[in-house]
Amino acid sequence: MTQILDGKALARDLNEALVSRVQALDPRPGLSVIRVGEDPASVIYVNLKTKAATRLGLVHRQIVLPDTTSESELLAQVKALNEDDTVDGILVQVPLPKQIDAKRVLDSIAPDKDVDGFHPHNVGLLSQGRPRFISCTPKGVMHLLRLADARLEGAEAVVIGRSNIVGRPLVMLLEQAGATVTVCHSKTKDLPSHVRRADVLVAAVGSPEIVRGEWVKPGAVVIDVGVNRLDDGRIKGDVEYEAAKELARAITPVPGGVGPMTIAMLMENTVSSAELRRSIRRS
Ligand code: NAP
Repeated sequence: MTQILDGKALARDLNEALVSRVQALDPRPGLSVIRVGEDPASVIYVNLKTKAATRLGLVHRQIVLPDTTSESELLAQVKALNEDDTVDGILVQVPLPKQIDAKRVLDSIAPDKDVDGFHPHNVGLLSQGRPRFISCTPKGVMHLLRLADARLEGAEAVVIGRSNIVGRPLVMLLEQAGATVTVCHSKTKDLPSHVRRADVLVAAVGSPEIVRGEWVKPGAVVIDVGVNRLDDGRIKGDVEYEAAKELARAITPVPGGVGPMTIAMLMENTVSSAELRRSIRRS
């Protein structure tokens, strides 16, 4: 029978395991999340992060700025958080309004508080196999692969999507775990032929059901990162779930697969940051 990889339950278990680590820290870990503007998806994501942080007992601050905020105003806000010793983790929710260069803002976050793992310093550490903060979605995907008991050493892994947030870090993690990794993207010729070879398939495209179920290799582990809202309000992943489920050995649902794991990993990274920063202060 196909294993449905329940990200919600796994995230709950991982959060429970974090409680004692949080309680051992005095002062409690601090997470500050900045949202600029009212992008509906960002409002939902930031509220979910706030809820998780509050439940875990983190000192959480949500900073909401108007969509007219200038780049220099946002940079000044990040600088203040960088210098605030009570803040262990800083997250700037993307996308940002057009007048702001997101790259410049994300690069301005102190690398030791970059709990999203987007800063080039942290990406560089990950590329050398000595990560400090691994970006939350790829890290969550690796947990889901462990839940599926996926054998990565020697496996053919196919990642569809090469964004800095999901695809690229995932490629590094899978390669470091011993998989032979193929990266597919918008210029890839014959996507189905790559998918058909995959023992481990990760789809991170943002195109509803772009991966047809019949392409899935029998016995594959399928992780669907995509979140696509249809006109009728339904949420679909990048993989044709019902058909893929017939062939896969394990598969994530959308919603309820990768999404909750991303938030759990943000909590984990924030607690790790607090532990690290306090141990450095003591030494
Ligand atoms: P992104 O930055 O837009 O990247 C999409 C990637 O898909 C690009 O590398 C693009 O190729 C590739 N692509 C586009 N069309 C393709 C095609 N026809 N065939 C093969 N590859 C194609 O998106 P992202 O930020 O990585 O996010 C991807 C999806 O994951 C979105 O649905 C997003 O909402 C979701 N997501 C979910 C979570 C979560 O927690 N559940 C977190 C992050 C993202 P090029 O590079 O050639 O353009």
